[in-house]
Amino acid sequence: MISAIIDERTIERLRALINGVQRIAITCHKSPDGDALGSSLALCHVLRRLGKQAVVVTPDMAPKALEFIPGVRELVVFTKHEARARRELTEAQLIFCLDYNSLHRIDRLGEIIEPLKTSRVLIDHHLDPDDAFDVAISVPEASSTCELVFRVLMQLGLLRLVDRHAASCLYVGLLTDTGGFAYSCDNPEFYEVLAALMRRHFDRIGLYNKALNTFSENSVRLQGYAISEKMQIFHDHGCALITLDKDELARFNYSRGDTETLVNKPLAIPEVYWTVFLREDADRIKVSCRSQGDFSVSDICSRYFNGGGHQNAAGGELACTMDEAVALFHRVLDELKG
Ligand code: 5GP
Ligand code: MN
Repeated sequence: MISAIIDERTIERLRALINGVQRIAITCHKSPDGDALGSSLALCHVLRRLGKQAVVVTPDMAPKALEFIPGVRELVVFTKHEARARRELTEAQLIFCLDYNSLHRIDRLGEIIEPLKTSRVLIDHHLDPDDAFDVAISVPEASSTCELVFRVLMQLGLLRLVDRHAASCLYVGLLTDTGGFAYSCDNPEFYEVLAALMRRHFDRIGLYNKALNTFSENSVRLQGYAISEKMQIFHDHGCALITLDKDELARFNYSRGDTETLVNKPLAIPEVYWTVFLREDADRIKVSCRSQGDFSVSDICSRYFNGGGHQNAAGGELACTMDEAVALFHRVLDELKG
């Protein structure tokens, strides 16, 4: 049995909102990942089957590696189609906010949405959501936003509209946000959601390989280089650090998504229980952290790296040089010791 964990009053309000409108926009966070895209595209597909005019608007492009998710080509991407994105948001009668907890996480889309009177519905599993939403379905214990979208649809009585296409999208989020069913999936009901999706007969093996086991040659070489030449282990802290600067990324012809699972790799070493990956992007240092067990990288990222996330998977960004970011990392180690 999959329990109805979302408050019935919330579900009733959501049902009334959906019933009362025709045009719906769905948004997800910048640098969208498998869960952001999977949940948004699944919900969009179901709402269309319900007869709504629904569209997914993203702050920026999906990484190449996730273009296999059904429906990605129909995304309205703000950085590519600014006018259309603005129009879809301003003309929408209802806006869904998926897989983020604050309007800051959607860059300029946030500035467009903020002044609108349109009702906003949050469906998310990040800690500490803003109170910028009219209906807030925030469940930090959930594996993924995809799991929550499934539960919302179940409680709305709309599971009949979850077909093979929507199931494929939802599966991608369940898979990627748990690192391939490795973490954040201790709730037995997670597997019941998975089982319900499996009954929709999607291409499980194909999606698994595309989502978790497909990298370009450049990316495989870059990851090999990063592990072999750039990984530092701080034994006293059970911590590993990997840094990649602009020149190193350029040498391997880096494109977005190429370092997607790199930050997890040092966790294979038994002595390492948390990891930090610093990548020098065009205008900032992107921070990614992972941990095992009780150690919260979400706390670290919100305290030091202008970010946040989940206990075992979090990130942030720094407006500084790589040297300064590394110095900050060392300060974090010192402070944790003290
Ligand atoms: P990743 O390391 O894969 O980029 O991100 C892992 C998780 O950390 C994401 O699911 C997201 O919850 C969180 N995260 C990553 N970057 C940021 C950021 O800049 N700000 C916040 N608040 N969370 C982030
Ligand atoms: Mn997520």
